[in-house]
Amino acid sequence: PFHSALRVILLACFAIAGVDTRFLAQAPAAPAQQAAAALPRVHMFATGGTISNRNGGRLTMDELIASIPNLDRRVRATGEQFLNVASGQVTMEQWLALARKINEKFKAEKDLAGVVVTSGTDTLEELAYFLHLTVRDDRPCVVVGAMRNPSTLGYEGAANLEEAFLVAADPASRGMGGLVVLNNEINSGREVTKTDAKLLNTFSSHDYGVLGTVYDRVQYFRKPVKRHTAASEFDVAKIEAL
Ligand code: GLU
Repeated sequence: PFHSALRVILLACFAIAGVDTRFLAQAPAAPAQQAAAALPRVHMFATGGTISNRNGGRLTMDELIASIPNLDRRVRATGEQFLNVASGQVTMEQWLALARKINEKFKAEKDLAGVVVTSGTDTLEELAYFLHLTVRDDRPCVVVGAMRNPSTLGYEGAANLEEAFLVAADPASRGMGGLVVLNNEINSGREVTKTDAKLLNTFSSHDYGVLGTVYDRVQYFRKPVKRHTAASEFDVAKIEAL
């Protein structure tokens, strides 16, 4: 406000003095802003689960994104709070609404690189498989959760979330379908299952193996060949109820 007031006063003075004020035109965007605009954009739908289940109040979508140090150097993150509940409480109607919302988002925002969905781990594999079949776009839809809650020693939620953002932002994830990212591993929503109630490496695709890994960078070893996402026969836009 101070600067804009100063600008108006200066312009008025120059006008009275008859000075050409074109040199005061808005400066081009600073290099830092330009660099941020060039980063891939990823949108997160937060639904709750252990990843947000802090004692005394669940972490919000904004708090989850803010928990990742320096994310803004790699990704332009946006998000919305879709739900904030345990995954067993999510209804089929809400699944349908989420799939529709993701489809609408992809359709409307061609500059979007991918989507992240946070979920409780109890029904995470089912949600990921559902989105693998109903999100009709080549861009990645990454489902992520945590085994330890934010009030637990060794909470791994922020690390998993960072990995999910990196996977969703990476062009190599295009055409990979619905993905599950936890514990540095990228699994297909079609193949992955939760194998243990406590272990951090609980999500496994057993003999199929991981699609890839994500440490600081994303690396794929194979691609799902069964029909999914953009090639799926399922169209939730035409379905009233599951
Ligand atoms: N493991 C639970 C789930 O799958 C999380 C518990 C909670 O967030 O209340 O949602």
